[in-house]
Amino acid sequence: MTFLETFLGSPSGGDGNGTALQLPAGTDTHTPIQSILLVCCDAIRAKDNPITYGVACIVAQLTMVPGLTVSVGSINMTDADGNNRDLEDMQAEMQQLVDTYPASCIGFSVFAYNTRVYEGISLPEGSLLLLGGPHITYQTDEEVVSAFPRADILCRQFGELPLLCLSLGYRHDKVALVSERARSALSLADMPDSMMLSLSLDESTVPSPYACKILPVSMYVRLETERGCHHQCSYCCHAGGIRGSVPLSWERVHGDLTLFMEGGARDICVLDAAFNDSRIRRRVKVLQFLVDNRYKGRISVQFFPRTITKQELVLYRQLPGLELEIGVQSLHPETYRAIKRPMCQEVLQRMVTQLEQNGIRHFMTFIIGLPFQTPATLRHTLQTVRDMYTPPNVASLICYPLELLPGTPLAAQREEHQYRTGEFRLVSKYPVMSGHVTSSKYVTRKEFQEMYDISQELREPEFVPYVAEEGPVWGEEDSV
Ligand code: SF4
Repeated sequence: MTFLETFLGSPSGGDGNGTALQLPAGTDTHTPIQSILLVCCDAIRAKDNPITYGVACIVAQLTMVPGLTVSVGSINMTDADGNNRDLEDMQAEMQQLVDTYPASCIGFSVFAYNTRVYEGISLPEGSLLLLGGPHITYQTDEEVVSAFPRADILCRQFGELPLLCLSLGYRHDKVALVSERARSALSLADMPDSMMLSLSLDESTVPSPYACKILPVSMYVRLETERGCHHQCSYCCHAGGIRGSVPLSWERVHGDLTLFMEGGARDICVLDAAFNDSRIRRRVKVLQFLVDNRYKGRISVQFFPRTITKQELVLYRQLPGLELEIGVQSLHPETYRAIKRPMCQEVLQRMVTQLEQNGIRHFMTFIIGLPFQTPATLRHTLQTVRDMYTPPNVASLICYPLELLPGTPLAAQREEHQYRTGEFRLVSKYPVMSGHVTSSKYVTRKEFQEMYDISQELREPEFVPYVAEEGPVWGEEDSV
């Protein structure tokens, strides 16, 4: 069933706590967008809120615009049993949502896997079509304009600040890509043709969707401590348009953590691209906060393979629900060099030993279909990792098929690696995804299937048992 909820902008133009909006000089008091409908379209699990986290962040920011009505509609891409829904059903549902809520601006959050759901949707007379999200952000200006010619506004990078500027009629030369129609409708006639939001507009102070009560604090919550990633893995959309990372203010992070503890959260998903790459003082503060509050629930974290400091090991050991996802991808030198994800076997071995000896729960992920990869190199990588453990311990090993994401460096090398893609339904979580690699210069379709079969044999989880109530804590000397 379609979800729809409406939020009203603060009458005072602030955050409701006496904090007024503060934009750079030049803000126009005219409010060109009176109402906005943001549509989420994702695979929403029972524990998720129908409003996706990214859209909730934008709503939290927009409710600070006086007089603006912000509505959120949500379409689930999976049914109650977690199965993919028919594309036509989702499109019909989305059309109905748009028809029954004719806002002056209708925005869609676009991922590579949901673009086809938006195709063919017709907008109410006079509404502006706004597209944002990763699939819009990571392509070049030219690519995104030619891929989405119907769009009036293409919102690049994080959505809070560009939409805030546009909602206030603020003329800033780095806001979003807008069409002639949108320029005139929004009174932005002087806006240059090519515009992109600059992170210098201080991403660190964007409001929290939990503090603004857009998302309830439930058992399952998401924690964001910084945005972006400074690695350049060529298959990843983070290696495209956004360089570097921006820490959110400690005030915001601490505020969210406090709400989570008070609200009884028991399952925290940390959204940072690589939590152990974030500023060390910051992550130690986060871990220390959880330990001080005797948090025993689940906390899942994305981890970059590298040696862990002793100080962090001590804290990790005190979080029994900690689960690290370690993205290894491949240990084959030609492959990891080609994808610009340097991998040192000795460092990985050291990290595995630290995790194993300290009983820290983790699993490792790999990608199938990478450059220079074959069934033999995949088997070798998996066996090398298994051999790093002391039997009977072994981490759960999971392989994901490579998807060529538009805007990534690897997608630009499509011809070089002779990638063929298609709907590989066996491995696709989504019904409309078609960018999965199915063969390349290095593997035939049959060999790709062989790699997929190898990955399926791994599906039984083999977690490292969490046994280390006592035992060794060792690591590099703290570098704090
Ligand atoms: S794969 Fe992970 S570490 Fe690499 S660029 Fe993407 S987010 Fe960063």
